[in-house]
Amino acid sequence: MHRPSLTLLTASLMLATGFVSAKDAPTTIPAPAVQTAEQLRDKAMHDDTAYKVVEGLTTEIGARLAGGVNDQRARDWMVAKFKALGFDKVYTEPVTFPLWVRRSEHGAIVAPFPQPLTLIALGYSAGTPKGGLTAEVVQFPTLDALKAADPASVKGKIVYIGERMQRHKDGMDYGRIGSPIRVQGPVIAQEKGAAGYLLRSAGTDANSRTPHTGVTGFMDPAKAIPAAALSNPDADQLERVLAYGKPVTVKLDLDCGIEGQYTGANVIGEITGRKYPDQVVAIGGHLDSWDPGTGAIDDGAGVAIAVGAAKLIHDLPQRPDRTIRVIAFANEEMGLWGGRAYADKHAADVSKFQLGSESDFGSGPVWRMSASVKPEARGAIEQIAKVLAPIGVSYDVKRPGGGGSDLSQMHGKGMAALSLTQDGTYYFDWHHTANDTLDKIDPKQLAQNVAVYAVFSYMAAEANGDFGSAPGAFAHDGAED
Ligand SMILES: [Zn+2]
Repeated sequence: MHRPSLTLLTASLMLATGFVSAKDAPTTIPAPAVQTAEQLRDKAMHDDTAYKVVEGLTTEIGARLAGGVNDQRARDWMVAKFKALGFDKVYTEPVTFPLWVRRSEHGAIVAPFPQPLTLIALGYSAGTPKGGLTAEVVQFPTLDALKAADPASVKGKIVYIGERMQRHKDGMDYGRIGSPIRVQGPVIAQEKGAAGYLLRSAGTDANSRTPHTGVTGFMDPAKAIPAAALSNPDADQLERVLAYGKPVTVKLDLDCGIEGQYTGANVIGEITGRKYPDQVVAIGGHLDSWDPGTGAIDDGAGVAIAVGAAKLIHDLPQRPDRTIRVIAFANEEMGLWGGRAYADKHAADVSKFQLGSESDFGSGPVWRMSASVKPEARGAIEQIAKVLAPIGVSYDVKRPGGGGSDLSQMHGKGMAALSLTQDGTYYFDWHHTANDTLDKIDPKQLAQNVAVYAVFSYMAAEANGDFGSAPGAFAHDGAED
C-alpha cells in the first residue's frame, strides 16, 4: 500500500475514507451507505431473483450428490447463471474428495416377525456382502450408552440407536442428538466390532415413512461398515419388535461404497469492489445436495440467497467499495470438502476477508444475528443490526458468529464472521430426504433472507475500517458453525 506522509490532515482524511484503519479507530458505516442499505432491504423483500435461482437449479438440475451424475452439470449451470446475471468475475477452484456411490439399499426384519424396513444408506457407508448382511440387533438408547458398552455385547451384531430429535426453532437437537448419532455412532460401533449400524433418522418428522440420509464419520474405507437410517415409523416398529425381548434379526442389503476420487469445484462469482477490489465480503451456500430430493432447502436456498443479495448490489448505480464474493461450495455434505479446500487455499489472505457468512439452514426467516468481530467493529455491527431490526432480526451481542457451514473453515483461519440464524422449526422434517423439494420454500421468507444478506454484505463492503480478520483471530470464540 502506498503511504503518503502522515500529516494530521491526510491521516484524518484517510481514516474518514477507510483508506487505512488505525488500530484502535472504531469501524463505522457512512450515512449514505446506511441509506442505500435500507433501500436494498426494502427492494429485496419484493425481489424474486433468489426464488428463480433455486427454482431453476432444482428444476433444471435437481439432486446434486457430490461426484454424482449432476455434479458437473450443476457447476456448468452455476457458471452460466453467474454470467447471465452479470457478475463481474466468474471462476472455479478445484476440490478433490473421495467418491461415494449409492446404487441400492434394502432392509428387512428376518425374525421374529419378518417384514421389510424403509431405510437409506448413509454417506461413506460400506456395502454389504453379496446376498446381504444378516445379524442380530443390539439396541442402545443413546450414543453415550454405546460408548460405554462392552465390545463383547456388540461384536458381530447390528447396532441400533433410537434416540429421537425434538423440534426446536434453532434446530438444536441436530447438533445435540441427530448429527452425533449419525456421524460418530457408526465409527464407535465399528471400533467395537459391530457388523452393521442402524439409527432412527435424524429428523423431526414423526409420521413420514421417509428416511433421512447424511454423512457418517467413516474416514477410512477399510474401517467402514454398512450403516443406514430407518424412517421414524420404521424405527418405532423395530423398537416394538425389540420390546418383545426375543432376539431380533435384521438383514441389510446395501450396494454402495467409495470408488476412488473425484475432482469437482467451488464455483465463484464476484461483484468487483470499486476502491478495494482485493478486499472481499464472502457469502454463499453449497451447491451439492443429498440425492433423494432436489436439494431445495439444503442448500439450493442458500446459494440462491447469496446470489440474489449480490445481484441487488450489482444493480446499484455504482459498485461498493469492496468486492462481494459469492461462493457456491462443492461437497459440503460429505464433510465440508469445499469449505476446507477453500480455507486451505486462502488462509494466507484471511486479512483481506472483510466479513463473511454462509446460508445453509433452509429458507426460514433470519431471526437472530451474532458476530465475531474485533471490539472496535461492534459499533458497525450495531449499525447493521439497526437496518435489519425492522425485518425481524434481533442482535445477540453475547453470542459469537461462526460464518455458517463451509465458511466456518475461513472463520477458523481468522475471518471475521456473522451467524445469521434462521427459523428451523420445520427444517429437519425434510432435511436430507426425498421431501427436500422446492414446495418447502416460501418465496416471501426467502426474500427476507436475501434482504439480510444484501444489507450486511453491502454495509460491510462500504465500511470505514475492517472487522478484525487476521490470521488466528477468533480462535477461541466458541462458535459452533
Ligand atoms: Zn447443507
